[in-house]
Amino acid sequence: MKNGVVLITYADSLGGNLKALLSNLNKNFQGCFSGIHLLPFFPSSGDRGFSPINYDEVDSTLGSWEDTAALGADYEIIADFMVNHISRESVYFKDWLKNEDDSRYSGLFLPIEKIFGEAGPTEKEISAIYRRQPTEPWLTINFPSGTERKVWCTFSEQQIDIDISSEAGESLFRKTLRRLKDGGINMVRLDAVGYITKKRGTSCFMVEPDIWETLEKLEAIASKFNIELLPEMHEHYSIQLKMASKGYRVYDFALPLLLLYSWYAEDFSPLKNWLSICPRKQFTTLDTHDGIGVVDAADLLTPEQTDFTVEKLYSRGSNIKRKYSTSEYQNLDIYQINCTFYSAIGEEDDAYIMARAIQFFTPGTPQVYYVGALAGKNDTELVEATRNGRDINRHNYSNSEISEEMNRPVVRRLKNLMKLRMTCTAFEGNFSLSENKDNKTLEIIWNKDGETAVLTADLSIKRTIITLKDAGGEIRSFRP
Ligand code: BGC
Repeated sequence: MKNGVVLITYADSLGGNLKALLSNLNKNFQGCFSGIHLLPFFPSSGDRGFSPINYDEVDSTLGSWEDTAALGADYEIIADFMVNHISRESVYFKDWLKNEDDSRYSGLFLPIEKIFGEAGPTEKEISAIYRRQPTEPWLTINFPSGTERKVWCTFSEQQIDIDISSEAGESLFRKTLRRLKDGGINMVRLDAVGYITKKRGTSCFMVEPDIWETLEKLEAIASKFNIELLPEMHEHYSIQLKMASKGYRVYDFALPLLLLYSWYAEDFSPLKNWLSICPRKQFTTLDTHDGIGVVDAADLLTPEQTDFTVEKLYSRGSNIKRKYSTSEYQNLDIYQINCTFYSAIGEEDDAYIMARAIQFFTPGTPQVYYVGALAGKNDTELVEATRNGRDINRHNYSNSEISEEMNRPVVRRLKNLMKLRMTCTAFEGNFSLSENKDNKTLEIIWNKDGETAVLTADLSIKRTIITLKDAGGEIRSFRP
């Protein structure tokens, strides 16, 4: 994928459907993005698309394969494959329910005896399983024949876990990739990939070497379609580093909390440490459709620094209540905070622009979530209406709302930054971090064949400066 700026959006978040998305991008964001992570656009029975019923069609309320291909003509497109689960409403699950072990899809599902044998798991084995929620990761399913079986189900009751390594799993993956390729998709995000390794006596999360073996198999299939894979999981940074060392592109989910800590504590030291060791082949994020990751920054921030940041976020991040990140509000993950990044940083334009500028200068390819592209505030009304904490950062914008947002100075400043990140060739070159012992200042330099881009951020006076030098030696300095 190109080293430009990638927009993350639902198909219906900017104007209501895929056609409106394309026309809004043409009208309001020319030159700002090179790619789009199009969040799941298939028929789905829950979790806003993450419970796919099939991958053969585009949800007709969102558009068609012609629309995805039209977007694909102008942008590189990332789509999701839910490698860990499929909808309870899918033909696959329904067929299994009806025909049980005679179903041709029976190998796709994970009744727990498949992992633990007829005697089932011991208490010790259950407590060893890595979970983001305090409940057991399986459901009791009553088959019409009268059999009752516990079936692995990591997320909601609509999302039944699958065994991607089974014959049926691989065949579903292959078939989907072929369909996605024809629909103009260049990269596939392997959603929640950490959970695909279920093995007795382990944490059942990122189990080695199984995870690498499965990824290799999926990679071999994807390469036939010339599709790149993007494994997605929230975990300790060392796992992302390991994944990156094996050549996979990864996410930088640690950056948001590190930047929030920097701003609130006026201290860049943990961020500088991360910039010096972070994977180079990564997608950086400040925001996604999920919450702000906390576990991702573990050991990059001390527990005290993490607590300090989280406290600040709840006291100064606008309108954010702790309960929006709890099970009362269906939180996906006890280690995620539901808040927009603009609100998390106190809805201060200079702070937000500093954070985005640092993101754009961080090694990797930056992703900007659509709410972030419009410097959106927490939508607490929506959260209260749906009682879903993640909806705080999932406001759907109408065309007229978008036109209004485009006039805000912070949005214009961000657009200029995105255009700079898209056009300045220094970002194709070498990255370096100035050695300076002052924790309140940060200097990042990119250099390619004499063209340089330098970012200086100063927390004591809350100022960001970008200096560009072209190959002819001409220098231009400005505040983004
Ligand atoms: C996605 C979430 C989703 C979950 C289950 C995650 O990693 O980003 O939005 O709820 O996987 O599909």
